[in-house]
Amino acid sequence: MNSDSVAMTDLCEKMHKPETVCIFGTGDFGRSLGLRLLQSGYNVVYGSRDPKNSLLLPKGSKVMTHAAAACEAFVVFVAVQREHYGFLSSLASDLEGKVLVDVSNNLKRGLYPESNAEYLSRLVPGATVVKAFNTISAWALQSGGLDANRQVLLCGDRSDAKQQLMDIAQSLGFTALDRGSLRVAAELEDLPLQLFPLWRLPLNIAICLTAFIFFYALTRDVIYERVTNGKDIAFRIMISLANKAFPIVSLVMLALCYLPGALAGFLQLYNGTKYRRFPDWLDRWMLCRKQLGLLALAFGFLHVLYTLVIPIRYYVRYRINVYTISLVKDNKTYEFDNMAAWRYDSYYSMGILGFGLFVLLGITSLPSVSNSLNWREFSFVQSKLGYVTLLLCTAHTFLYGWDRFLKPSSYRWWMPPAYMLSLVVPCVVLILKLILITPCVDSKVTRIRQGWERQGKTSANNIDTKTNQPLMA
Ligand code: NAP
Repeated sequence: MNSDSVAMTDLCEKMHKPETVCIFGTGDFGRSLGLRLLQSGYNVVYGSRDPKNSLLLPKGSKVMTHAAAACEAFVVFVAVQREHYGFLSSLASDLEGKVLVDVSNNLKRGLYPESNAEYLSRLVPGATVVKAFNTISAWALQSGGLDANRQVLLCGDRSDAKQQLMDIAQSLGFTALDRGSLRVAAELEDLPLQLFPLWRLPLNIAICLTAFIFFYALTRDVIYERVTNGKDIAFRIMISLANKAFPIVSLVMLALCYLPGALAGFLQLYNGTKYRRFPDWLDRWMLCRKQLGLLALAFGFLHVLYTLVIPIRYYVRYRINVYTISLVKDNKTYEFDNMAAWRYDSYYSMGILGFGLFVLLGITSLPSVSNSLNWREFSFVQSKLGYVTLLLCTAHTFLYGWDRFLKPSSYRWWMPPAYMLSLVVPCVVLILKLILITPCVDSKVTRIRQGWERQGKTSANNIDTKTNQPLMA
């Protein structure tokens, strides 16, 4: 065999020889990771304090002491809690030149002055530390990321080591995202500790709005009736008041999804540039629009369900019977009111159409659907159809109230009917949008969004985003 064919055989062997990966720690995470690695064609060796008594390890893996296991592989996953990292400093020479993968998380934020990955790097200075896989649970590893989060976030100071981890993540069925240098590790370690960060503001808005509208309606309808007429209609709390609060919260929150976009348009007009950063509160508001919209849809669903039970309510059947009997007793006829027929049909129709489009908006915000749309299609649905939805739902509410706002009896204790409150934000949003789409304003906003800047405006690069003052050269 000549030297070329020997080299070729070596290369082929290398190409076909499965890579060996070492895992320190035989706990939940280590076992799940090992199983996934084996299923993806890697050899797995475990480093354990007690190799003889390590049970339940995936079939096909080997277990040995930490030092022996470290010698078998170039990539070593440290699947051990940070509190126990101390033993690694005694293995510094065995781990020299290797890639150490820190998968650890903490129980609380700010528990340690430095991130776990930086601590590991300090303990084993001769190794290259990469932070990865800490945002993936043991369960997600077992299910191959099919039913769970598929993204592996990683960071580290050496790109070749990160690339190696990215290749491993990809072969395990995950997508890998490089988040930068090891300094970012603390941020990655905080991620699993966050509890629905983007949902917090929308949830708080929903809870506060529901409580406010509920107590407003309770005072206006139930307490007022009790105090002025001595009538106890507290039973209305269960369905009538709930069905007053839910559609109002739904409509206001839908409007709140579109208000920041309209405000941003006016801010850009005012600034004469798109390169100036929005204030932080507006940025945060824009970021949680999807969550606001999904919560609004949930409240809309509740409104639909509560409305469907109205005909079978005892109170409603009682009122209909009493009214019909009184007509019979007085020998009166129930005159057909053409106007009322139009009004009610239009009211229901607007509601049904609005809700239908609302559901469509919700569906298109799901990642699997939005990923299949291009940017133009997505913005058409979310922006244009979104405004049409808002318009239909607002019209639905207007038709519900009809001329009630003209009747003095509607203002109990000077409090207007709750539906009138719900119209304030949607009307503001629709008026702002109407101004923005008038041709002269629209052409200006479009030019600004295409990069045009008003003469004399300082460009964003020259503006301090915190103080909004021009930066010194
Ligand atoms: P675990 O079930 O408690 O297992 C940790 C392993 O560390 C033990 O099985 C043990 O293996 C080893 N160990 C324990 N005390 C040790 C000591 N004094 N010195 C050396 N080794 C020791 O923990 P886990 O759930 O697998 O988590 C491991 C790491 O993965 C943690 O840092 C965790 O934050 C991270 N993580 C876990 C998950 C998850 O879903 N579980 C998700 C993301 C990240 P031996 O007995 O074989 O030595």
